[in-house]
Amino acid sequence: MAVDLRARNTLGLPCQAHELQVITSLAQLQAGFPRWDEASLLVLAGGSNVVLPEVWPGRVLQPALRGRQVREEKEAVLIQVGAGEPWPELVRWTLAQGWSGLENLSDIPGWAGAAPLQNIGAYGVELADVLQEVQSVDRRDGRLRRWQRADCALSYRDSIFKGAARDTQVIAGITLRLPRRAQLHLDYGDLRAELDRMAVSTVDAQSVATAVSRLRARKLPDPALLGNAGSFFKNPIVSQAQADALARQEPGLVAHACAGGQKLAAAWLIDRCGLRGQGNGKVACHRDQALVLVNLGAATAGDVLAWAGHVQDCVRQRFAVELEIEPRVYASC
Ligand code: FAD
Ligand code: NAP
Repeated sequence: MAVDLRARNTLGLPCQAHELQVITSLAQLQAGFPRWDEASLLVLAGGSNVVLPEVWPGRVLQPALRGRQVREEKEAVLIQVGAGEPWPELVRWTLAQGWSGLENLSDIPGWAGAAPLQNIGAYGVELADVLQEVQSVDRRDGRLRRWQRADCALSYRDSIFKGAARDTQVIAGITLRLPRRAQLHLDYGDLRAELDRMAVSTVDAQSVATAVSRLRARKLPDPALLGNAGSFFKNPIVSQAQADALARQEPGLVAHACAGGQKLAAAWLIDRCGLRGQGNGKVACHRDQALVLVNLGAATAGDVLAWAGHVQDCVRQRFAVELEIEPRVYASC
């Protein structure tokens, strides 16, 4: 039966799909093979990192498996989490248990099972720092597979599940390893300044989480009020030589050293092109964070991609830098 996915993607894009199947157990997921082996299958979790087409003529699978299982070890706590556990709730729950490690990843929308896809990251921490294992069902044979962290090829907003293993696995769960004596990561962006503003007597994981939440609430539009998929472009990585040349040409260029050269702040590049707060009537670059494209109310995937293409053109012309789209863009199959 046809289903409307508008309320199931945070950009709020209209999408009519042929059928939606919500799966809540591993047995159900394995029993569904070979239906998951269709090219027209779309795996959708929280819908916060996708651009959906107006029509998806195939099946949509939501791996909504819930559950948290804890194994306490001397040096660390291991938590096996169902793919359908909402990430922000999971982070709050770990902090309430007194376990640190996820505080910098507070308030990232979406479900736990999607977190490995782009190795979610924020404020200097990424999933790779805490991931122990991914459990998935192979769409080609229905078998359960286990991926150790090293198998997942996690890197900046990337993983094997977006690369060599793209569209071959349905992630059923993940296991996190939170060391008991985890170090706090404070040296990133505005985090320390926010902690200073909060004037807490002792900085701990909970206060870091609060600082991250306050920063995010100030800068990022709430998808419930203004449709968006977070950062629409990745921060581009360029060579040291190109970054040096750009810095001479553009005083104030924001760049950070990283593996492979320098990571430029895409928001700064877009802002410098005069696009912050600008749009095409349907879609705009958010006024408080230019990297976030917002749905002004009636946008379709075509409107979003048209504006994204304009932003890419402007940045290319001014800086000779290519902006890569971060969310998964689905064209009608
Ligand atoms: P979806 O959007 O439903 O899916 C994303 C992709 O993963 C799709 O290709 C889908 O097929 C695939 N997928 C999902 N679940 C599974 C599964 N179980 N098995 C196989 N494939 C699967 N990201 C960050 O990294 N850092 C941030 O700080 C951040 N901030 C954000 C802020 C806002 C306001 C928004 C809207 C988004 C933000 N994001 C951020 C992006 C997004 O929240 C993350 O990428 C999140 O992990 C996506 O989860 P989801 O459940 O919504 O995935
Ligand atoms: P910000 O703090 O204004 O920083 C701008 C950019 O500079 C960020 O994109 C960040 O890259 C980089 N940066 C800042 N300090 C850095 C450091 N010490 N070392 C290396 N790189 C540094 O960024 P923001 O927009 O407010 O976002 C804050 C954090 O939340 C960032 O980590 C961002 O990635 C994350 N976030 C992600 C999304 C998403 O959808 N992917 C949406 C909102 C926020 P990185 O992006 O590589 O961290």
